[in-house]
Amino acid sequence: MDTDICIIGAGLSGLSLATALKAEGRDVMVLEARDRVGGRVLSHNGYDLGPSWIWPHNHRMLALLNDLGLQTFAQHASGRLVFEDIEGRIRRDLDFATMSGALRVEGGLSRVTHALAGKLGTNLRLACRVRQVVEEASSVSVLTMEGITRARRVVVAMPPRLAAGLGISVPDVPTWMAGHAKLVAIYPKAFWREMGLNGDAISHCGPLAEIHDASPVNAKAGALFGFAQLGAARRPGFRDAAIAQLVRLFGHGAAAPDDVIIKDWSTDSATATDADRTPPPAHPTYTALPPTRRLIFAGTEAAPEAGGFLEGALEAAEAAHAALRVVAV
Ligand SMILES: Cc1cc2nc3c(=O)[nH]c(=O)nc-3n(C[C@H](O)[C@H](O)[C@H](O)COP(=O)(O)OP(=O)(O)OC[C@H]3O[C@@H](n4cnc5c(N)ncnc54)[C@H](O)[C@@H]3O)c2cc1C
Repeated sequence: MDTDICIIGAGLSGLSLATALKAEGRDVMVLEARDRVGGRVLSHNGYDLGPSWIWPHNHRMLALLNDLGLQTFAQHASGRLVFEDIEGRIRRDLDFATMSGALRVEGGLSRVTHALAGKLGTNLRLACRVRQVVEEASSVSVLTMEGITRARRVVVAMPPRLAAGLGISVPDVPTWMAGHAKLVAIYPKAFWREMGLNGDAISHCGPLAEIHDASPVNAKAGALFGFAQLGAARRPGFRDAAIAQLVRLFGHGAAAPDDVIIKDWSTDSATATDADRTPPPAHPTYTALPPTRRLIFAGTEAAPEAGGFLEGALEAAEAAHAALRVVAV
């Protein structure tokens, strides 16, 4: 046996489970396909390209941030929203903030996953994509390009649709947000705030469908982020069309960003499958995935209460942790 517990996936769920197990002195190894940790959690220079928000009822996330000594701040919400209808008519008189009450993490959410990974040391292997998982009578064989890792039990901490490609029998549930793309435009200052705007926009013309203030807490720079309309980020000219849209919505101050970062999750094979390019029309109902004798499921898509969210990634990790207390012979 190479390890007692092998966790596939170093997203928030796999990392939080691995650190809890390691703290108990358990023999654990995390195998991660990418050359970085975090999975859908990804910040670039502090700007979040995956999730941005947690909410005050996300008690597991708040407790984790507290443990890691990380601070939150409120999503900027004062000022008016910009609305663009299908005819291109623009309103700037709506006194409403779509994400009022949401919290962001100072320095970006990757600080959470990096802090967890920092506790794992040699219990974590990056750039180690699992190709196949074979459950046998007394162990599980986990096949990677580097060879086979044999474990007494395996925790599948990755989206079920990707797990299906490893030969694991799982229901076909959509991977939350996997079909989406984000664009972040960074400016010297949050000029829209001086115009009485809160940075929120809803647009029926696109290519960005929904825009929010993404400025850092210290306001040393300003930033806007937008979710692209479905498939828009894969089309040529997306970047320029998005900046032209920001100018339409927020004025000429938006014309020359210092930097623009684009992350299209729908083309990232460590998150999305082809089926995820058509996201579900509403938030799916996620359920716990029943374990087999030696396979246990974590990952946010296995969380019945907060499935899809960061909080769900921790909820599923907690349930997997409890399942691992049952001794497998
Ligand atoms: C654009 C976007 C915006 C979002 N906004 C929010 C938000 O504001 N608030 C919120 O709560 N949630 C949000 N979410 C959802 C949130 O990101 C997820 O709930 C959470 O990050 C899931 O964590 P996880 O560990 O379950 O899965 P993942 O982060 O997907 O981790 C799975 C890991 O498995 C790895 N992996 C995949 N295949 C293999 C393989 N074959 N071998 C080894 N490793 C493999 C992956 O590389 C990855 O590291 C958003 C997501 C996206 C994409």
